[in-house]
Amino acid sequence: MMKIEHLGIAVKELAASIPLFEQLLNTPCYKTEEVASEGVKTAFFQAGEGKIELLEATNDNSPISKFIAKKGEGMHHIAFEVENIEAEMKRLVALGFELLNEQPKNGADNKLVCFLHPKTTNGVLIELCQDKR
Ligand code: ZN
Repeated sequence: MMKIEHLGIAVKELAASIPLFEQLLNTPCYKTEEVASEGVKTAFFQAGEGKIELLEATNDNSPISKFIAKKGEGMHHIAFEVENIEAEMKRLVALGFELLNEQPKNGADNKLVCFLHPKTTNGVLIELCQDKR
């Protein structure tokens, strides 16, 4: 069984959305981090055992720019924590899920990540993440 690690929300401007989510969740943003390889700047909030990740694009080719151009701001992905990301990727491919990256890649928050194509997951972008050890 997988546990929800965080929910990713695409936003136009962290500068506007960080204070908004601090008010909403009644907790301070505890970390911001740029992931240059993905063209995003992220901001994290604790929400119970899970987290909220806000994502702002840092360039026009960022997946977040494309997402916002198409759908506007909003829910972007659900991230599930896994123990062994390579084993999970293999398991899911064998079941017919389509991976967006063939190898785990570096994500925010010191994690290895892999995304599943939304067309094989009822339209929801899914992220698998594993703590780097
Ligand atoms: Zn994420």
